[in-house]
Amino acid sequence: MRGSGLFERIRQEIGRRRRMSPRLLIFSSVITVLGFSAVCGSIMLEMRRNAQELARQTQENLASTISADINRTVELYDLSLRSAVNSLALPQLSQVDDTIRRLILFDHAATAQHFGAIQVFDAQGNLAIDSASRTPDKINRAAEPYFTVQRDQPDHGLYISGPMQHRGAYSIVLSRRVSGPDGQFLGIVAGSIRFSYFQELFSRLRLAPHDVIAVIVSDGSLIMRTPFSPELLGSNVMANIGMSNILSQRRGWFSGHGKLDKISRIYVWADSTRPLVVLVGKSWDDVFKMWREEAIRIGAILLGLAIIVAGFTVFFIREIDRRAAAERRLEELATTDALTGLTNRRKFDVTIDREWRRALRSQTPIALMIIDADHFKAFNDSYGHQAGDQVLVGIALCIGDSVQRAGDCAARFGGEEFAVLLPGMNATAALEMAETIRQKVELWSDGQAGVTVSVGVASMMPGPAQHWSVLFEAADKALYAAKDLGRNRSVVAANRSDLTLVA
Ligand code: GH3
Ligand code: MG
Ligand code: MG
Repeated sequence: MRGSGLFERIRQEIGRRRRMSPRLLIFSSVITVLGFSAVCGSIMLEMRRNAQELARQTQENLASTISADINRTVELYDLSLRSAVNSLALPQLSQVDDTIRRLILFDHAATAQHFGAIQVFDAQGNLAIDSASRTPDKINRAAEPYFTVQRDQPDHGLYISGPMQHRGAYSIVLSRRVSGPDGQFLGIVAGSIRFSYFQELFSRLRLAPHDVIAVIVSDGSLIMRTPFSPELLGSNVMANIGMSNILSQRRGWFSGHGKLDKISRIYVWADSTRPLVVLVGKSWDDVFKMWREEAIRIGAILLGLAIIVAGFTVFFIREIDRRAAAERRLEELATTDALTGLTNRRKFDVTIDREWRRALRSQTPIALMIIDADHFKAFNDSYGHQAGDQVLVGIALCIGDSVQRAGDCAARFGGEEFAVLLPGMNATAALEMAETIRQKVELWSDGQAGVTVSVGVASMMPGPAQHWSVLFEAADKALYAAKDLGRNRSVVAANRSDLTLVA
């Protein structure tokens, strides 16, 4: 008996755990999907960082290469200007004729493809010597910044002008001061680099549609830009992209929006110590294009995986629910009496065993009543077995109507015998309830050829060494007493010395 109770508990526990498993399944599915998402998320973030770092490096290399080319060109041209400045200081220069003088002053740099003529202007800004012409035009440049800066700032060194338009073509003018032996201003040597130089340089590069290359001077004003935007030439690039002071650092990068196209770009500059600084910009869309495609691919795979996991989870939960319901139905069938719907003998045995031990632990009384139909054999004989069955159902309903507390257990114990277990109830209360049931049956069966029941009642406080069978025997004895006393009555078990009956 005790063993079967243990097995029953094990079965119930396993059943309970099984019913919990849908939650566990959902939990593990969510954890799996979240785990995958976290791993993929961190991988994608890492990839994004790498893409950004790669773009920064690539752009820096590009800026560095272009900057080196442009500044070497400027240096070369400046060398020619300086050599002209130095030669102008030679006292013999005034003694030679014009051709020789121009040969001394100007090397062949000025004849290179993208370089304009080198010209010498006197202290009043009048063109004095022109490398391209024996007879210099009568022009005066005294108002031009490349003249005034050299006149007003003796230590300025090389001056690079903003973009200037000359006969429809853009160019920048480079000028150097010509000083006398005691530092007095004698004029300037100036020359120009045509934009065709930049255009040819940039045309050699394979640029994406949103790539930008800007050539600026140290105050931030724009000298040249590709794509070519004449309206931006001369404007301050820092102001255009909402940054300031970036050239205080030798190299670096920042993120900004283009003034014209409003495209968000990474801008990188390589060497701000050179006369011309190159700023290259690449749109973030282009930088992250491949990364975005990869992210969408991984995201789609992850979404597919999540849908599959969710599908499987729903499927398994349904399966588990179905099984649990089937198990519950089976359990119900296994523990219920088919005719009356009351608990069957098997379940009753388990229940009384458990409640007995509980009562022992808590030292509370436990009551049992055994209800037996009177003269039932005779009833069957008179009205038939089927009518007898209906009466049994009626008796079960009368019992069920009275036994309603949570811990109470009403069972069909045998053919026409019922048992009711009432934990915590003393004999007086149990007798009262027995009487209620008996009267209900009597009242109901008035029209059913007078079926009555006899009830044996016992209630006791379990003793440590006692088995619940003592309670059962006491109730059974009381039932016999009820039968002996003429049936249709309830009898409570007599107080015996070996029993601790509770009245
Ligand atoms: P007593 O008052 O002494 O209990 O008399 P009784 O006839 O009820 O007692 P007995 O034990 O002699 O007979 C029990 C009868 O109950 C025998 C059987 O015909 C009937 N019975 C047992 N199980 C069922 C059942 O499932 N259905 C029907 N209709 N009758 C049953
Ligand atoms: Mg009987
Ligand atoms: Mg009977």
